[in-house]
Amino acid sequence: MRVAYVGLGAMGRPMAANLAASFPTTVFNRTAGVAHDHVAAHGGRAVEQLADLADAEVVCTCLPTDVEVAAVARVLGPLLAPGTVWLDHTSGAPQGSREVATALSGHGVDYLDAPVSGGTDGAARGALTVMIGGDAATLDRIRPVLGAVAERVVHVGGVGAGMAVKAVNNVLLATSLRAAAEGLAALARLGVPAATALEVINASSGRSFATERLLPERVLPRTFPFTFALELLAKDAGLAEVVVADAGVQAPLLAAVAALTRETAAELGPGADHVELVRVVEAAAGVHLGAEDEDRPPS
Ligand code: NDP
Repeated sequence: MRVAYVGLGAMGRPMAANLAASFPTTVFNRTAGVAHDHVAAHGGRAVEQLADLADAEVVCTCLPTDVEVAAVARVLGPLLAPGTVWLDHTSGAPQGSREVATALSGHGVDYLDAPVSGGTDGAARGALTVMIGGDAATLDRIRPVLGAVAERVVHVGGVGAGMAVKAVNNVLLATSLRAAAEGLAALARLGVPAATALEVINASSGRSFATERLLPERVLPRTFPFTFALELLAKDAGLAEVVVADAGVQAPLLAAVAALTRETAAELGPGADHVELVRVVEAAAGVHLGAEDEDRPPS
């Protein structure tokens, strides 16, 4: 299968590299140099015009939001052969993905929303989880492509359902990370080092991905690698607010987390990783959760 990949960002680069190892893969990136560098490192073909992706049998997109996907689809969609499958790995709005699907279906192109979880690390290992919204028969046609990037593929419903699941997953990430930071900041002020508190919590019912992985691996050693922009997490939390509102469900906790995440993203700016929201909690509490001797409350 001939694969086209659009969007060589933090997620797109490792995903496209894994695809290029198994399929003839053509890559496009808004900043063209990124695509040329990628091909030099991982093989495949780089193009500088979306029109040069027209012979693809599967088009993958991994862009910030559904808005950028819609813009790419307006240019590329009419050029694709009927029967092409558009696999959208972006975390976007369900409604936006349905609109893209409708526009592409006018050209005979079959759209699946296929947002991913597992982070840059999971992408590098080809071990992502993909949540698919769309037609089951279309999914079956492109399963080998997904096999190059994913360990788990779950068909969750019609077009837009994958986006809805992804939004809810990510607002849960924002909730658990923020809640853990607030709780650990309080414990640090009371004289319990974060590492000690995490030893208890991670053997207890309050544990989460944030307490088991993000805090021990990134916050305690103060590394804060940039893997997933805080502003993208804020975007996802906002999408979750829309998902729950559309479902007619009252979700005051998720709304509060979405608002806090937006506020924190605005405070830290576009270069901040999502885990850096912990820094804002630390600053407000007057502690930091790093090395043990620095966890003591200010005297
Ligand atoms: P990045 O910001 O690292 O990459 C974004 C990509 O989109 C870049 O290739 C960028 O090109 C391109 N792009 C941005 N704006 C436009 C535009 N207007 N037109 C065309 N191309 C554009 O994002 P990530 O890779 O981190 O995230 C991509 C998607 O995956 C998001 O929806 C995110 O929420 C989701 N996601 C991210 C995860 C992560 O851990 N990072 C995990 C799971 C999902 P350029 O190089 O020119 O800037």
